[in-house]
Amino acid sequence: MPAVSDRVPAGADPAPQGSVPGPAAADATLPPRVRTAVGVDLGGTKIAAAVVDEHARILARATVPTPAQDGPAAVLDAAAESVRQALRSAPVSDSAVLGVGIGSAGVIDPVRGTVVSATSALKDWAGTALCAELAARLRGEIPTLRGPGSCLAVNDVHAHALGEASAGAARRASSALLVAFGTGVGGCFVLNGRVLTGHRSAAGHLGHLPSPAAAGMPCTCGAQGHLEAVASGPAVHAAFVRSVRDAAPADTRGVFELARAGSPEARRIIEAAAAAAGEALAGVANTLDPEAVVISGGLAGSGELWWTPLRQAFAAGLIPALRGLEPVPAALGPDAAVLGAASLILNPSATEEIP
Ligand SMILES: [Zn+2]
Repeated sequence: MPAVSDRVPAGADPAPQGSVPGPAAADATLPPRVRTAVGVDLGGTKIAAAVVDEHARILARATVPTPAQDGPAAVLDAAAESVRQALRSAPVSDSAVLGVGIGSAGVIDPVRGTVVSATSALKDWAGTALCAELAARLRGEIPTLRGPGSCLAVNDVHAHALGEASAGAARRASSALLVAFGTGVGGCFVLNGRVLTGHRSAAGHLGHLPSPAAAGMPCTCGAQGHLEAVASGPAVHAAFVRSVRDAAPADTRGVFELARAGSPEARRIIEAAAAAAGEALAGVANTLDPEAVVISGGLAGSGELWWTPLRQAFAAGLIPALRGLEPVPAALGPDAAVLGAASLILNPSATEEIP
């Protein structure tokens, strides 16, 4: 089985995924030999579905709100509706759709297609038979959903990483470490197109690496001193609130605006958060020696205020054998998750255990 990164033909547009075909293309149904899959990105606020072909091109897409507090049945109904909406505007015949791949919030068992555990962002989500339930809702529209391997699921961070590894910033890399810095800090290691999900499906929690900058600080996981307590977006805001009290802006974005306007304290806190991130990433890179390191998440879109100290700390922490390795920004934005989810079907080895 070739690596996912080999599936994008040489010379292909590196990021054609943002475009949806115009009316002329959508009117013409593609021949059944075109292999496609539906990728679903199931999050706490919205569910995105996209029909994706084997060259990682998005042919059609749909987004619906997540009824997050209405229980699993309502969420699954909404997910099925997002798939139906995407298929209705896709220029493919039913027989060309090989199946549905899902990237979902929560810890997901990719073998059973079930939700192992989840936060309260999705009410009662833990224990949901995600793949079986979604396939049951969609068999009328997608005949192939009866077959083995036709509905597969991973965690949304893993799906995001698979997308970047198959069609984004790491598409030419045989191994990649992908890390998101946003509301939380999470990541994934992808080797030859396969995502390392771990024995308990929980691999990649890089936010819970110990960080000297977070010494003594409580973490969202209940422990102390973890990277997420200093390097997530909310952590940057919280540090600024602790420092200036009443003069703090309402959110992380406001801290960055103050830094750009010349606030030394805002700048110091952002630099400390980015340096802690870079230092921790260097440690993981030293351990895994990935060909590429890709950074995504809200903080990755915040400019050089954050990237420069991150790059400096990362370079300073590398062992000599890894010198020259540099983190790069993710390329696909939110499309990474639906593309990665679809790649579960289009590249069935994506979640097999790494030998
Ligand atoms: Zn933690």
